[in-house]
This record gives sequence, structure tokens and C-alpha cells, in this order.
Amino acid sequence: MQKKSKTILDRNKPVAVWKSKDLLNERIVPSLTIILRTEGCRWKCCTMCGYAKEGVAVTDNELLNQFSNAMQRFSGEELVKIYTSGSFLDPREVPNEVSDEILETLGDLGVKRLVIETRPEYVESECVQRILSFIETEFSIGLETSNDLIRDELIKKGFSFQDFIHASKLIHERGGRVKAYLLLKPPLLTEGQAITDAICSAQRARPYADILSLNLCNVQRGTLLERIWERGGYRPPWLWSAVEVLKSIEGPIICDPVGAGAKRGPHNCGQCDAAVAEAIRKHSLTQNAAIFENLSCHCMAGWKKILELEKQVFGVQLAEFFPRIL
Ligand code: SF4
Ligand SMILES: [Zn+2]
Repeated sequence: MQKKSKTILDRNKPVAVWKSKDLLNERIVPSLTIILRTEGCRWKCCTMCGYAKEGVAVTDNELLNQFSNAMQRFSGEELVKIYTSGSFLDPREVPNEVSDEILETLGDLGVKRLVIETRPEYVESECVQRILSFIETEFSIGLETSNDLIRDELIKKGFSFQDFIHASKLIHERGGRVKAYLLLKPPLLTEGQAITDAICSAQRARPYADILSLNLCNVQRGTLLERIWERGGYRPPWLWSAVEVLKSIEGPIICDPVGAGAKRGPHNCGQCDAAVAEAIRKHSLTQNAAIFENLSCHCMAGWKKILELEKQVFGVQLAEFFPRIL
């Protein structure tokens, strides 16, 4: 009998490293993104998150080796993003000695801004100050929505809007930057409710965030959302919904439509997905909503019809009735 081959994780190599472009003080600059393999998020409860379960225990040396390995791709980028599929500020994921060494290296290399992600409970005065003493840093927090009921009950995020505000104020008082992630279409919201929630959340989060990032929900493996989706109870957001939100929000907002066009990712009809996703990416770099004006496709009428009908048939999966356009 043939043995099933097991993937052996290399704890000395990062999960992924890639180059892209980002906005830095209103300029488009090359950036480097590094995903480090760590023990992973301690919370692990969010209904749509499949990353959190991917963690493995790593030693300090292995973490530093991952970073060194990733930095072989570095070629003078002004902006570096380091993610861990958890919280960079959780000392169990990234011990202080390790982060000090990483930050010192980036500072010495002349990197202008570091972007990291963290849950608000790890945002403490001492650690924020320590990080900012090395390099200008943007602290990204997965707020998802400003609505505590949606965050608590539908996402199971485990912190409140007040927790986010508290963390944001602390970071700002010490001179750091804040990015708030907003989730478009958590489970159990209709398309229209999701649009309204994202727009309202953007308005409420804006005073506490230097930049907003709209995350278009996708169906990740091993999640509660996947189980709901498999039973026909969830459809990832339409890209038209993302466009609607991006057009309605004032001030800097970015959006990377990960998985656009895929069954599990945000999608329209299949024919226009690539063009709409490209426009969303361009908007992130230019902040020019006029980019959306020339987009059109026959499926837009179907999307509008769904927004209209779902108000009257709450609880019924309209996806069942529109198989052709979904
Ligand atoms: S979304 Fe963030 S906080 Fe929630 S389980 Fe995933 S990594 Fe943890
Ligand atoms: Zn279309």
C-alpha cells in the first residue's frame, strides 16, 4: 500500500514572501510582505478564519532564520509588512528579543515604515513605545465591524469597539499609525446588510484609524463559515458590493480582493470578475473612485435585484433562485 506523503514544514523558512506596491504618504512605493510561521493566533475562534489553526511551535532561532531567509528578497523597499497569521505583538508568537532584532535590522536598512497586525489586547504602552523606538510602524487591527453584536455573535471576535478605540488611542498617543480592517459580509448578513454595515463601520472607525482596509470575506477551509457555505447558507460578497462600499467611503481606504472570481472568494458573474478586481486594486493605489465609473456588466442588474428582493425575504437564500447569475 502506498504511504500517504506528509508535508514537512520547514520552520526555518517563512510561510510566504512577496513583493508588491503600496501607498506610503500618498506615494506609490514598492513593498515587501513577509508571512512568518509562528505558534499562531491565541484566539482561534473567529468564524471565518482558517489561518489561526496553521500555527506551529518555533524557537527564537527558527523565527530569526525565517526572517533572514525572507530578507534575501529585500531590495531597498521603503515599506515592509510582517504578518504572522496572528498578532505580532503577542510575545508568545514573537518574543521581544526576536522582534527587537527584526526591528533593528529593518531600521538599519532604512525601511521607512513597518506594517504589522495585532489584536488590541496586546497593544500595551511599553511594547508600542519599544517598537516605535526602532521604526515608524502601522499597527493593523482586525476590527471587522463597528457593530459589537455582529462582531460578537457572527464573527466571534472576542473584543469590543471600545477595546479597538482604546488600543488606537494608545498607539496614536505614542506616535504610531493605525490601520483598521473591515470585513465585508460576515456570515449570516444579507448582501445589503453587509454593505450598510461596512459603510457605517468605516464612518465610525475613521476617527481612530489613519487608513481603513476593506477585507472581502472568502470561505477558508476548516471554518464555521465553510460549513454554512457548504449547506448553501452563505455566498461570498459580490465585487459590486465592494465597489459600492469603496465609492461611498471618504478618506483613505484600501482593498485587496483576495481570491476574486473564485467560488470561495468575492465574485460577480465570472465574466467581469478580473476587470472589477483590477479596478479595486487600482483604486487602492490611486484612491480615485472615478476608476469605477466605466465598469459595467450584465450581472450588475442581477446584483441590484438581489439587494432589492432580499429585503423582503429575509432568511431565504436568494442564491438558490438565481443559480445562473451567481
Ligand atoms: S481573524 Fe485574527 S483574531 Fe480571529 S482567529 Fe484569525 S488570526 Fe485570530
Ligand atoms: Zn458580471
